[in-house]
Amino acid sequence: MTLAGHCKICQQNVFLDDSWGCVNGHDWTQIEGWYDADTGQPFVPEWAVQVTQDPPPPVSTPVPQAVPAPEPEPVPEPEPPVDPVEAMRGVLMDRLAAINLTIANDDGVLSVSRGDDYSAAIAVQESGEILLWERLVTGVDPGARDLVRAVASEGGWRVRVALRRENVMG
Ligand SMILES: [Zn+2]
Repeated sequence: MTLAGHCKICQQNVFLDDSWGCVNGHDWTQIEGWYDADTGQPFVPEWAVQVTQDPPPPVSTPVPQAVPAPEPEPVPEPEPPVDPVEAMRGVLMDRLAAINLTIANDDGVLSVSRGDDYSAAIAVQESGEILLWERLVTGVDPGARDLVRAVASEGGWRVRVALRRENVMG
């Protein structure tokens, strides 16, 4: 293929040199309308296409993310040994709450009440004994003694009850 083009300086079609310039010494920037002198077919040099096109958008290079180290499997903490006294307090609180008594854990002594007409205190001792003090002012005995005895017997605890009744009606 014989390169040719129109030289703006020469104002005519010219053959091009190896540098795509005019054979008369005008450089390539003065050439337009390239064509193949052998065939007469116009063409655009590859480099000219690249020049006239917008530069390709920059390829966004993904910033390598620091790959987090896999979380180590959490090692389950060993269950703390169950304090039998604490466990018994928990059971008693649940069971007493189930018969509608109000329970507070007051420094390890369970303070039990039903309004103003019944109150009790329960101490669970490491010796394996449960002490129950009750004071029934009025109304129906809520049955805390039987409940505490039942719970205690399940775990082999002994129960000592101190009951004080006042003005029990009926
Ligand atoms: Zn020229």
